[in-house]
Amino acid sequence: MAKILVLEDEESIAQPLQENLAFEGYEVLAAGNGNQGLALALAHHPDLILLDIMLPGLNGFDVCRRLRQKGLDTPIIFLTARSDEADKVRGLDLGGDDYVTKPVGVMELLARIKAVLRRSQPAEHATDQALLEFGHATVDFSRREATFKGEPIHLSPKEFGILQVLAERDGRAVSRAELLQSVWGYDVYPTTRTIDTHVLDLRAKVEDDPGHPVHLLTVHGLGYRLVR
Ligand code: CA
Repeated sequence: MAKILVLEDEESIAQPLQENLAFEGYEVLAAGNGNQGLALALAHHPDLILLDIMLPGLNGFDVCRRLRQKGLDTPIIFLTARSDEADKVRGLDLGGDDYVTKPVGVMELLARIKAVLRRSQPAEHATDQALLEFGHATVDFSRREATFKGEPIHLSPKEFGILQVLAERDGRAVSRAELLQSVWGYDVYPTTRTIDTHVLDLRAKVEDDPGHPVHLLTVHGLGYRLVR
């Protein structure tokens, strides 16, 4: 069963949350301080983090940023009393996977946890799209491995997701909104800039000349397409 880190300083929220998660069969780690939470995440590699934003020590945004800097792609659901749209966008831009505004119902949160875990796990259906090759890049979706010019490269779960959606379209354009919905899974689209940032990162990894891409192409006013 998945291991979940609850990083929340308010006992009245953290305690019942931990109990509910344990009852559902999850292995639960918990901390009420950003620095302790970061240390726990780095030591135990949880499958998902419920991350409060207003925390003593490092705040939730800092924890997320440091995890990503260290190369950890642990899915994160931000958990916060704030309902400010700017915070939501900021959290997602930093690499958060979802955002829940407190107070949140347990059933809703459990459903979101399941959805995020499902998206973060490698696709089990091995299709004929399992191996993608273009230019000097190979991407093995079932093994979650990629190479560029024969050397292994690291792609984040989101980057695998973007490539998979583009590959399934076989050269046809995919809108930013579709990419957000397929890869991030939102019903609302907080920012399409998130997609652009990820595509720029991807180009730096898989294009010979990232400034003049020949595979990951921008479709003006719409989105992106992949040319093999
Ligand atoms: Ca708090």
